[in-house]
Amino acid sequence: MARVAVVEDEPSLRALLKTYLERAGFAVVAYADGGHALKGLSIDPPDVAILDILLPEVDGLTILDAMRKSHPHMGVIMLTALSEVSDRIQGLKAGADDYIVKPFAPAEVVVRVETILRRMDSLSKSSVWRAGPVVLNTAAQEARVNDADAKLTAMEYRLLYALMRQPKHILTRDQLLDVLHGPDGVVSDRTIDVHVTRLRKKLGLRPSPIRGVYGLGYQWIGEIPVVCDT
Ligand code: CA
Repeated sequence: MARVAVVEDEPSLRALLKTYLERAGFAVVAYADGGHALKGLSIDPPDVAILDILLPEVDGLTILDAMRKSHPHMGVIMLTALSEVSDRIQGLKAGADDYIVKPFAPAEVVVRVETILRRMDSLSKSSVWRAGPVVLNTAAQEARVNDADAKLTAMEYRLLYALMRQPKHILTRDQLLDVLHGPDGVVSDRTIDVHVTRLRKKLGLRPSPIRGVYGLGYQWIGEIPVVCDT
């Protein structure tokens, strides 16, 4: 059973979401403030967290940042009463998988959670992913851009795989180092930057679908990968 956390300070909304998600078959844990949520999500990470932005103690964007560093695989949906476009962009740039503006239908939230879970699940089972002009073949471990072989090295391929597998998530240098060499690898931080620079060049896309996040790491901001039937 997939596990979903609801972080919402408004009691009626929190209860409503919990009810709908439980009815849809999820195991739900709910938090009423940002402090408890930050602690709870770290100790007992769910598959997907639904995060309100305006919360007592610690706000939702701060929690999102913390989760992206400590639990990069967690799916995150941001909720907010603020409907301005700038807030939407801020949330997505910070690495949320999705964004829902209040007021919303609870059934819509359930659909969005299911979509994120399905994407996580299908990508891990399928061997060919497409994200716009980029097609990744995980069986052959190769990437094609606009139908031409990108001729990636093994390291570049692994970086691309890790980034595309978790679109919008910020992967830290430490996490990317693990991807390249395993936790015992003896390579420097700078090595990541060198490989990413080469990878971007080989992809040859402008704007680049790989974004550097200053002081943090890298993020796939290209199209969301979908399973490709071949
Ligand atoms: Ca709130």
